[in-house]
Amino acid sequence: MSNIIFLGPPGAGKGTQAQLLAKELGIPQISTGEILRKAMREGTKTGLEAKRYVESGALVPDDVVIAIVRERLQEPDCANGYMLDGFPRTVYQADELAKFAKIDVAIELQLADDIIIERLSGRRICPKCGATYHISHLKNGEVCENDGEKLVQRPDDSEATIRNRLRVYQDQTAPLISYYKERGLLKAVNCEGTVEQNFAKVLEAVNG
Ligand code: AMP
Repeated sequence: MSNIIFLGPPGAGKGTQAQLLAKELGIPQISTGEILRKAMREGTKTGLEAKRYVESGALVPDDVVIAIVRERLQEPDCANGYMLDGFPRTVYQADELAKFAKIDVAIELQLADDIIIERLSGRRICPKCGATYHISHLKNGEVCENDGEKLVQRPDDSEATIRNRLRVYQDQTAPLISYYKERGLLKAVNCEGTVEQNFAKVLEAVNG
């Protein structure tokens, strides 16, 4: 059983790598960003509360995301392990998580800021299924390969918001790198390669 955390700046490939690893290990990928975007699309109370934070690139209040994760980890599909993608993002979230979950490994995906900005500003997502693409790799024009839906840019992927998200990451999330290092749980993976190359390194980090 493996309970895995993905850390790293926005755009380092957490979502993509977590999705591949989830498939490989047969455990669920729990993305707080994805859960929040779904709640926003559906207009739930949580979605309405989260909207202004998500759209400006700020963090949603800790208690909102902690409640989401605590509830999600009680689902039966988490019994044999899970992967947290985008959570925790503050030391407070990590401390709270430690009260209801035992983490086995924290994988830090590393990537330079200029590559992050290039990747995120070219990112497109399917508004229906959440699949992500980069404009330089589109095969069918700007439509989703899964459901034919027209792809859109995430409102928080504009350059100004990306810069804000990077600042937020440095200030509030980067301290988690030493947090997990001190606990002997950190494995760093450089993500400048292709998706496949990076995934091979992620697998090595999980198994090693
Ligand atoms: P992501 O898809 O992981 O890039 O998350 C998109 C946005 O959702 C972030 O910029 C935050 O506004 C919000 N969000 C996702 N996860 C968290 C978290 N653990 N704590 C606070 N806000 C979060």
